[in-house]
Amino acid sequence: MPAKGYIEVNELYCKACELCVTDCPYGVLALDMERLTSKGYHPAHMVQPEACTGCGICAVVCPDAAITVYRYERQKGEA
Ligand code: SF4
Ligand code: SF4
Repeated sequence: MPAKGYIEVNELYCKACELCVTDCPYGVLALDMERLTSKGYHPAHMVQPEACTGCGICAVVCPDAAITVYRYERQKGEA
């Protein structure tokens, strides 16, 4: 099934607390251990973008309001 949404992480705010990683019901997110933000944290990123439903849970649980959720528009005839 194609992704229904995607997220963006504002790396100025992300402090690598991992709440979004543990609370995403679909295992979409992980910390990016290959990168550091300007503040020295491994930022959250999408590792299974095809599984994102755009549910918004990650944005709600993020204590630093670092996540913006976008939902793809439904195509005509799509359920
Ligand atoms: S919007 Fe929902 S499915 Fe997508 S990354 Fe956030 S918690 Fe996971
Ligand atoms: S919940 Fe917010 S601050 Fe914590 S890792 Fe996710 S994006 Fe970063």
